[in-house]
Amino acid sequence: MRARDPQKRRRDFKEVALGLTQAQAMKEAKRCLQCKKPKCVAGCPVEIDIPKFIAAIKAGDFKGGLGVIRNYNMLPAICGRVCPQENQCQGNCILSKKSKPVAIGALERFVADYEIKSKAKDEPVTIKPNGIKIAVIGSGPAGLTAAADLAKLGYEVTIFEALHEPGGVLTYGIPEFRLPKAIIHREIERIKKLGVKIVVNWVVGRTETIEELIAEEFRAVFVGVGAGSPKYMKIPGENLNNVYFASEFLTRVNLMKAHQFPAYDTPVKRAKRVAVVGGGNVAMDAARTAMRLGAEKVYIVYRRTEEEMPCRLEEVEHAKEEGIELVLLANPKEIIGDERGYVKAIKCDKMILCETDESGRRKPSCSGEEFILDVDQVIMAIGQTSNPILVKTISGLDLWGAGYIKTDYDGKTNIPGIFAGGDISTGAATVISAMGAGKRAARAIDGYIKSLR
Ligand code: FAD
Ligand code: SF4
Repeated sequence: MRARDPQKRRRDFKEVALGLTQAQAMKEAKRCLQCKKPKCVAGCPVEIDIPKFIAAIKAGDFKGGLGVIRNYNMLPAICGRVCPQENQCQGNCILSKKSKPVAIGALERFVADYEIKSKAKDEPVTIKPNGIKIAVIGSGPAGLTAAADLAKLGYEVTIFEALHEPGGVLTYGIPEFRLPKAIIHREIERIKKLGVKIVVNWVVGRTETIEELIAEEFRAVFVGVGAGSPKYMKIPGENLNNVYFASEFLTRVNLMKAHQFPAYDTPVKRAKRVAVVGGGNVAMDAARTAMRLGAEKVYIVYRRTEEEMPCRLEEVEHAKEEGIELVLLANPKEIIGDERGYVKAIKCDKMILCETDESGRRKPSCSGEEFILDVDQVIMAIGQTSNPILVKTISGLDLWGAGYIKTDYDGKTNIPGIFAGGDISTGAATVISAMGAGKRAARAIDGYIKSLR
């Protein structure tokens, strides 16, 4: 896919990837073999009829192609940009055995963007309202998908969102240069047109409890509150000035527009030399954001090698093109401060890789050597975990691990009428897996409501 010049894009927030041209899309669509038993579909958590949408592109029917995707996925312009297709549909494509897989994600993005560019009007969706009210807590991909599917089935859906803007991580976590806000806004507007109400600034568990929502008017609740609390390394110096946790750093910039301070109220510390700790998408987003805030040097400090990095391949490649340096086989052991309590360096153990661990990756172990990087800011991006605000207020709810909600495959919890899905039940995962969970839960909620009659 075409992308903007790294030297220009590393200092602004405009979108990096430019998508396929019409000619490129049609050429790529012709590569698809239209398999009778398509392996790509088995790799898609929402089971989009991939050969059918690609066949429509091949025939020049881009609107028809988008229509096929929308039967399964209400957020195609988002998924076409951020889904890890290389591990899902594309990773399963039969062509990947001999050559390159069909660029399914790029084709999905192409049809979604084509609709935006052609300024096509939305086709009206016919819905038969049943007057039954369902509450959805959290407006990330899990909540939005559950809400859209329930609305299409006729339910009166209200989403309660703690922040002042809907979208979950799509809005507060993933930066504009990867997923423009206008795209998210447009997809959410389509969901609102199905009749879904979104109430923002409403922290369920604080403003109102789930029990109160159920007692008042809602017959069932879907909990999709994500896993937004930061994980700590618990090393000395983590509380120094200029140590950020990635979710806070990214929220300041993405949601609160701190890069436009003082035009916007929220500030963010702009540093010269930044170390970002972690190797996932969150680390890449934080590093590339720090670069755009004007850093001279940005390091990604990761304890394994590039091969084991859990981020998308495209993200690490884009980061490197933008001048971000990977410091591999390095594990921070201390953040060193100056006499005023500000970060001045980070001390790391040099690591070696040993046997494979339960994640299937080789386990890092200290080599006995250490080194120091001079930096004036450290951003921790070692993962997120469950936020207890909501789950602690639901009495008798079964949890697992670090406070995640226990559900069956369809999102059913141990409490009748309460369903859950996305990162709050799986732990931090992906946009499309959260959407898959929202879809299954919508079906299960429909079944539950029908069983009450
Ligand atoms: P979330 O998106 O976390 O949404 C939960 C929502 O619930 C939030 O809006 C939150 O404010 C709200 N909420 C929380 N508590 C309450 C409450 N008590 N009351 C009301 N509302 C509440 N995945 C990919 O597939 N590709 C990527 O490129 C990618 N990049 C990522 C980059 C970053 C920086 C991060 C943090 C994650 C990334 N992910 C990516 C992971 C992906 O975004 C998540 O797996 C996905 O968003 C989970 O969806 P969700 O709906 O479960 O939760
Ligand atoms: Fe086309 Fe690949 Fe899917 Fe086969 S597996 S239908 S070639 S995209």
